[in-house]
Amino acid sequence: MKITRLDLDDTGSPEGLITKILKAEPNLPIPVPVEELAQCFDITDITVLTTEGYEGGLITDDCKSEGVILVNAAARRGRRRFTIGHELGHFLIPTHRPAKSGQFLCSREDMRQWAAKENDAYARMEMEANRFSALLLMPPPKLRVYLGKFGDPDLAHITELADHFDVSKEPAARAYASYHEQTIAIAVVKDGIVLRVYRQSRFPNICVANGSAVPRNSLYHYAANGGQTITEIRQNDAELWLESDWGKRLPTLYEQVFYQQEGFALIMLWTECDNDEDEVDADENRTSKERLLDRLAHKYR
Ligand SMILES: [Zn+2]
Repeated sequence: MKITRLDLDDTGSPEGLITKILKAEPNLPIPVPVEELAQCFDITDITVLTTEGYEGGLITDDCKSEGVILVNAAARRGRRRFTIGHELGHFLIPTHRPAKSGQFLCSREDMRQWAAKENDAYARMEMEANRFSALLLMPPPKLRVYLGKFGDPDLAHITELADHFDVSKEPAARAYASYHEQTIAIAVVKDGIVLRVYRQSRFPNICVANGSAVPRNSLYHYAANGGQTITEIRQNDAELWLESDWGKRLPTLYEQVFYQQEGFALIMLWTECDNDEDEVDADENRTSKERLLDRLAHKYR
């Protein structure tokens, strides 16, 4: 790769930086060689982080002439790659300044910062570094092409997506929920508690707050829970998950659950409005159940 920091023109936003990177390296391989890219951008070493309780770090000088990235060696490969992307984001975004001179130290929580208040400068930096890493490892033009090969949403695609881009499942789930052409959201659950929900802006408002229990009648509680299994896609009561708006009919809601290790699970919520413009005529007189059965028959054929 020939790209250098000069190609980045002091661009300040994660999106702008990724655009410049893809322009300079249009044939960027997938999985993205994040270590090699870091070297092109004056990261002289990527080494083990020994500070307890942190996921990643960056040592650099005030003018960021060069840097060393530190990574929690105990983390799995996908997570280490995300951390390298995150620290590279701190290094390349000109406004990012460490709390302690010369060293950024980032926790697991920092790596999950996807939203921040306007006046919270620290949270904003972490959010931008995460956005940079996610965009770098799953560049949107490549992600769209890749997602185009799948049909209707299915949590099984997340494993394939994570393998293809060499990322861990959670950033893969977030990207899948954000870029899928259907209206979906993905809840990350641990021991029956909803930790966070990734959703598109057009997804209806969710009435289950982060930190609360998965609704009692969710498929999550009824499907066989033996190891890492993925359930079928089932229609359920939309009111379980969606805020109801007086006078407005709620869309049809489908659920699918992907049980994972250590009590973790992903729950996909997929909504379909009955008045969708792209609904074909033949569908008009059929119930949602009929449409779903047809879809499943097609899928498992
Ligand atoms: Zn950070």
